[in-house]
Formats: sequence, structure tokens, C-alpha cells
Amino acid sequence: MIKKNMQAGELKLRKNAVLAIGMIVGLGIAVFACVLAYSGTFKRKPDIILITCDALRADHLGCYGYKRMTSPVIDRLASDGALFLNCFSTSCSTLHAIPALISGRYLAVSELDVFNGESCNIIDGKFTLLAEYLRKSGYQTAAFVCNDFVRQGTGFEHGFDVFKMCVGSSGTVTDKIIDFLNRYNRAKPYFIWVHYCDTHVPYFSPAEFSAVFKNDRFYNENNAVLAVDLVPRGTYPKDGSISRKAFHKGEFSSNYYTALYDAAIRHNDSQIGRLLTHVDDNTVIIVTADHGESLGEHNKYFHHISMYDEVLRIPLIIRDNGYFKGGKKIPVLVSSVDIVPTILNRINPFWYFFVKNRFDGIDLARAAGSPPNRKYIYSYFPGIRCIRDVKKNIKYMIFPDDKEALYRIPDEENNLINDDSLRDEKQELKRSLRAWLKEYPVNVDGNRRKCALDEQAQENLRSMGYIQ
Ligand SMILES: [Zn+2]
Repeated sequence: MIKKNMQAGELKLRKNAVLAIGMIVGLGIAVFACVLAYSGTFKRKPDIILITCDALRADHLGCYGYKRMTSPVIDRLASDGALFLNCFSTSCSTLHAIPALISGRYLAVSELDVFNGESCNIIDGKFTLLAEYLRKSGYQTAAFVCNDFVRQGTGFEHGFDVFKMCVGSSGTVTDKIIDFLNRYNRAKPYFIWVHYCDTHVPYFSPAEFSAVFKNDRFYNENNAVLAVDLVPRGTYPKDGSISRKAFHKGEFSSNYYTALYDAAIRHNDSQIGRLLTHVDDNTVIIVTADHGESLGEHNKYFHHISMYDEVLRIPLIIRDNGYFKGGKKIPVLVSSVDIVPTILNRINPFWYFFVKNRFDGIDLARAAGSPPNRKYIYSYFPGIRCIRDVKKNIKYMIFPDDKEALYRIPDEENNLINDDSLRDEKQELKRSLRAWLKEYPVNVDGNRRKCALDEQAQENLRSMGYIQ
């Protein structure tokens, strides 16, 4: 009898235990489902367009305070979205800047003689790029790029279902995107990367735009008369000179070219406007650049090989109705390496939470709230390395001959490297840069091989002045 009672008691206990475990598991599943639902995992993900404009400076856009009306469309995006006032590129050239911009990591290519056709397999397949992440998340992915440094076969195309090289102005590029959108079946959300080249030398815009700022009331301000440097194409002109690739016959005035540059922005802006009429208002739009451009600062004209801020400071505007509060101006210093983490956290926060350490960049939604816990951001180019203290806004650079420079931003005229009052800051920046350089940037072209540039690629590089 006692034994029977004990067995019944044991059975009851077991039942209760099973019930309790069941409840705990059920509760766990419910919490997990709530977290997923809250994080938007089950929602249709937003369409995303990432617009990079080659050599577009932030400070020549209206929303960054520029005197000319170069960018009414981009300005409107900025007033509807988030405007990052201080975004810096990881490099001063397309080839070295885009890898970080589309990977969220400090990736770089090593020094390549791209002009002789050694630019194949630049990005090894083992490095995951934004389009690959998005494709895995259910996106259809398409790229429309104008610069041959990122053409098909260089690895930049990894993860894209459609990858088109577009020769010509932003009008031609936009035609191709609109054609894609017209045929798009909308079964999946899309991710489009467009890289425009209007603002890269030779600053192209059609006739109705090219003269729009010529002889306006700013046209004669701070003009300089330039020499023409007959350097071979593909190299950069001496200070105070304009290169042969940028030179227009009989035009020696620096303001002539700056007006052309501004006109190219205005034209590109109008094409972004045309593109926007084909996408719905909930599409996430990101406008940025690979790097800026020297327009006379530091006596450098119409190229972008330097680490001064006219070249490193780029626009960053994110119009995203579901995420960033409209009209927000964010002063904290951020980097183009932050763009990928921001997009990935936006579309899949639950997943991102567990993988965020894969990235060197940070999610900028945090920067929009409180300043991120980050001390430095970095930029690099073969030969020039740069570290910036984001709180003190001091910048240290080191060159191949071990020449150094230290600037208290925004003043980049006075090199403070021998200023004793900044000795501690200098030592700290130098030490931190050295520590960073032990691991970064990671060269991603581990699988280099020679490959011939086809005729189209040669023509494109010729039109941008890179080869003879
Ligand atoms: Zn570029």
C-alpha cells in the first residue's frame, strides 16, 4: 500500500516537473517570438538604395551650408532624414575607400598597378560584403557603377544578382536603374548600390547644367590662375597646377573648374531626384561619397590624393522613415566604415546583436542617440596613414618618409607636430596608430593575378584620366 502511494506520488511529481518544464519552454518560445517580432524579423524588409557619388565633398551641398544651390534634392532628403555633419572616409581613393564602405571593416587593397591590368580579384571571396549579407536576408541585389576600379571581376560584384557597369553621366546610370525597377517583380525587397561619377574629373554635366554657376555672384571669389602640369595621365599634378586630364583649352581660372564641379553636383542631384520618383517613400536612401576632392585647398587642384579634410570629409545622409527621426543633424564624428553595420542592424537587429563584433564600424542609430563609445577613426592610403581622435578632434598623419603632421581640426594649415603643449596627445595618437597598423587595414587582394583590361574598361579609365 505504502509502496503504491509512493509510486503515485512520484508519478505526480514527474507530471508536475514535465508540466513546469513545458511551461518554461513555452514561455521561452513566446519571449523569443516576441523579441523576433519586436526586432522586425517577420516584417517585410525595406527597399534600400545606397548612393555613392565619386569625389563628392560634403561642404559643397546645400544641407552642409554651401553658398550655391547645388543640391535641392539631397537637401530635402537630409531634412526628412538624418544628416551626419562629420563623416570621414577611410581613404582618399575609390579603390581603397570602397572596400570599407561595403564591408563595414577596415579592408584595403594593397598597392596595385591597376593601370597595367593587375586589378583582377581585388577582393578575395572570403571577405563578406554588404550585398552578400543582404542577399542572405532575402534581398534582390543590383549594382550600377561607373568607375572601373570597382568593375565586374574585381570582387566588388560579390553578392549582386545584377551588376552593371554604366559608362557615362548620372543620366545614363539612372536610366539603367529605372529600367531595372520597371521590370522588378517586387517578390523580394531590393538593395541597389549606385556609384555615380559626375563629380569626378572631368566634372561632366550636360550643357544646360554646365554653365549654371558660371559668372554667378561667387564666380570671382578667391580665384587662382593655374599652370597646366603636363604630367602623364594617371599621376597627380604639382601643387598650384591643374592636370592635363582636367584642363579645358584656354581655361586657367580655378573658379571655372569649381563652377563645373558644382554644376556636376547639381546635375547628379537632379538625377537622384528623377530616381526618387520611381521608388516609394519608405525606401531607405543613403547618400554618401567614396571621398571628397581638393578644389584649391593646400594649393592642390582637382584631384583627391591627400588626407586633408577637403578629401576625407564626405556627406552622409540617411533618409529612413522607420528608423531615423526626420531633420536630425548629428554632430558626432563617424566614418564610412559605419554604413554597413547601420544597414544590417536596421534590417536584422536580432542577428546583428550577435555578430556586431565582426565589424570595425558601429551602428549609427546609436550615434544618433548618444555618442558611441569610440576613441578613434582611421583613414589610409598606400603611404599615408591617419588617425583622428573623435572627442578632441585632433588628427595625426604619417607619410612614407616618416614626415608627420598634427592638426587641431578644422585648422589644417598649421602643423602642430612640434607644439610642446600637444606632446602627450601626439604620443598617444602615434602609439594608437602604430597599434592599429599591426592589424589593419586588412589587405583583401590575397589572390592577385594579371588580367587584361578589356577595351571598354580601358576607355572608361581613359575618360576619367587614369590611362593614356
Ligand atoms: Zn573615387
